Amino acid sequence: MKDVAIIGLGCAAYTAAIYTARYKLSTLIIGEEEGGMGMTAAEVGNWPGDPEVRGPDLMERFKKHATSFDAVEHKVARVEKVEKISGGFRLTFQSGETAEAKTVIFATGSNKRHLGLPGEKEFTGKGVSYCATCDAFFYRGKTVAVVGGGDSAVEGAAIVAQVAAKVYLIHRRDAFRAEPFWVEQVNKRDNVEFVLSNNVAEILGDARVTAVKLEKPFNGSLKLKLDGIFIEVGTTPATALPEQMGCALDEKKYLKVGADMSTNISGVFGAGDVTSGSNYFAQFATAAGEGAIAANSVFSYLQSGALHEKEDGGKRVRE
Ligand code: NAP
Repeated sequence: MKDVAIIGLGCAAYTAAIYTARYKLSTLIIGEEEGGMGMTAAEVGNWPGDPEVRGPDLMERFKKHATSFDAVEHKVARVEKVEKISGGFRLTFQSGETAEAKTVIFATGSNKRHLGLPGEKEFTGKGVSYCATCDAFFYRGKTVAVVGGGDSAVEGAAIVAQVAAKVYLIHRRDAFRAEPFWVEQVNKRDNVEFVLSNNVAEILGDARVTAVKLEKPFNGSLKLKLDGIFIEVGTTPATALPEQMGCALDEKKYLKVGADMSTNISGVFGAGDVTSGSNYFAQFATAAGEGAIAANSVFSYLQSGALHEKEDGGKRVRE
């Protein structure tokens, strides 16, 4: 049985593993996609000490650092279930294999939100994408739209504008919530046009996307011809696994954690974008911070003897 299983392969997870390894805790770090949401960041300009770094490069360095410790076992697999067993937890993978650990850190991140528009599902992968920074390359010389007003959309529009001929940035309000840095970047580009206080009503196409229908006319027309559309309207926390085992969620459906990253289940912790821990501010810096705190809490928990206690009639008693 490992000391800790960290579920996730993103920034929070790798940071937690670096800390648990240095606490000399045997660590399993496991997840489906290496790098997590960090892979979608084309240019990271706010990771302290690195004025500019590509997200995938940063995540590769995180992984290299975490896996440099003998205490860390790194596994790429989908975890289907986590359940309480005597003295810890059992993880069941998609393959049917299992692993056991005394404690668990859920660092499962988040998933891109969809709009649920007519045509959206049909054209996903045929002109509809949920990652402007990842797929920009396919739209060299083309006309595209980016939907949203947060960091992902505005950064995405700035990146796509480097290769596309024309970018429409469609936002439901007339003010962006993105960092002013990125708003300045899109403002600088002649090929980005704002479509504000408007929404996409439908995605149109034949074999691939050819146009979108807007809710309100833009330049006198409801139809905007384009070759691709990037939907960047935020994320939802990936809480399926913790929820399945009875972890409490907050009112916004994030994994509820205390200041020490503990959940309501003894021995279970959270870190990164999945949690309520950093005021919903999903950043490399906040995810790394939460990963470090979660690892420190696991260390304290294992040292405290709490592992050998259980709830009995509202009291904690020795197992
Ligand atoms: P976000 O900050 O939640 O922004 C989502 C945007 O989509 C908002 O502008 C929102 O409009 C719009 N939106 C939401 N639902 C919509 C709908 N149904 N129809 C039309 N528009 C809709 O999400 P995000 O930009 O993906 O960022 C997520 C987190 O990752 C944030 O914490 C962000 O700071 C972080 N992030 C950081 C960076 C960076 O630092 N470089 C890059 C990417 C992401 P309203 O504004 O009207 O609500």
